[in-house]
Amino acid sequence: MSWRSDVIVAGGGVAGVAAAIAAARQGAKVLLIERYGQLGGMATGGLITVLLGYERYEFGLNKEIGEEILNQKAAVLEVQATREWVEDMGYTSIKRIKFDGEQMKYLLERMLVDEGVELLYHTYISKAIVEGGEVRGVILESKAGRQAALGKIVIDATGDGDVFATAGAQYETEEHPWGLGLGHRFGGVDIDRAMKYMKDDVKRYAALMDQLEKKIGVRYHWSPSARRGITLCMGPRLYNFNVLDPRDSTRLEIRGKEIAMKALEFLRENVPGFEDAFIVEFAPQFGIRVTRRLVGEYILSTEEVKSGARFDDAVVRSIYDVPYGCFVPKEIDGLLVAGRCISMAPGADELRLIGPCIATGEAAGVAAALSVKHGVKPRALDIDVLQEALQGKTLPKAEVAAAMRV
Ligand SMILES: Cc1cc2nc3c(=O)[nH]c(=O)nc-3n(C[C@H](O)[C@H](O)[C@H](O)COP(=O)(O)OP(=O)(O)OC[C@H]3O[C@@H](n4cnc5c(N)ncnc54)[C@H](O)[C@@H]3O)c2cc1C
Repeated sequence: MSWRSDVIVAGGGVAGVAAAIAAARQGAKVLLIERYGQLGGMATGGLITVLLGYERYEFGLNKEIGEEILNQKAAVLEVQATREWVEDMGYTSIKRIKFDGEQMKYLLERMLVDEGVELLYHTYISKAIVEGGEVRGVILESKAGRQAALGKIVIDATGDGDVFATAGAQYETEEHPWGLGLGHRFGGVDIDRAMKYMKDDVKRYAALMDQLEKKIGVRYHWSPSARRGITLCMGPRLYNFNVLDPRDSTRLEIRGKEIAMKALEFLRENVPGFEDAFIVEFAPQFGIRVTRRLVGEYILSTEEVKSGARFDDAVVRSIYDVPYGCFVPKEIDGLLVAGRCISMAPGADELRLIGPCIATGEAAGVAAALSVKHGVKPRALDIDVLQEALQGKTLPKAEVAAAMRV
């Protein structure tokens, strides 16, 4: 069996889901292919259940998803620490939605099904199909064997750029300064008692964490999750693992679990509130910040993100712009890129957050559908037509933009 669609979305993380929904809403026939049996990628399977960047995208799919998960009482809206702390981290965000990952998986799946997107789980994309410099589809591997999916436009939302890398597009790789990690959750925790113990004597707690660091070789942090009695650790920072190599990925899985279980034992013995704690889950996907990044028509720099640079061909706009060139490979046609592997400089970390990934996915989905509709290559799409279609989605409507002073 093979598939034929207008738009193929490779990968069902938040960017892929947003791309698929946006393309379907423009009338395209959409196929989304995901290697696991769930949607959300890092944001659910990686236990990165904290939507940062929300207040800057209170429109489009960010608003829809954010409001819906809050309405379902499966999330809490928090104002993040202090602005200084956020700026120290290199972010500009101050509002965040901490959500239940399981509920988010269900919400995203319902949204796709309701939009009529064809969903293919448990299917790994091994390769792009390229003819004459244009991506025509992807090769799939699954229990059904090797198959092909053909599409007029492919959106690479794999996070790791699996499609653009095998299509021969230019890309860069980077070990992110914050490394990688294996997220996990502990249950049975009296969080109020544990937080009180932590806050009552900050120095005492820091000394305990020093002891734990000596035991496990890495600094350990936990925080309350969106659910009562359950803590969240998005993964202590680990280095020197190349997760594009399954041998290193395996080492990371083993090391990540060992750290979590040693931390659990230590917290049980030393921190009031953790006495009856138990492991709820190790993240089904380890936390990756960056592997491959597209070198596209435009590379957005850290300075441009931080200074709020404006571009005539902006397709995502908040306190900074993301120009269309960040989505478009330099030489390869028939392909757009969305999410954490779009074309940006190292350090433009803001763009990797869940909010911006939803927004870049949404913009890529609309661009792909319009390219199909007008029978043009994505790089040749009329930017005015695209920007018009993105009003109220990833580009704020004029009156909102005025209020945001963007
Ligand atoms: C430790 C850590 C902490 C973070 N903290 C925060 C935070 O607090 N707040 C925040 O907003 N962001 C945070 N982030 C960033 C954020 O979680 C991610 O950048 C974002 O979720 C990426 O979304 P994405 O859809 O682009 O990619 P991904 O979530 O990686 O999605 C890619 C999808 O494609 C699928 N896929 C990959 N390859 C293939 C293939 N070959 N075939 C088929 N399917 C494939 C994957 O299974 C996955 O579902 C953090 C990230 C990490 C690692």
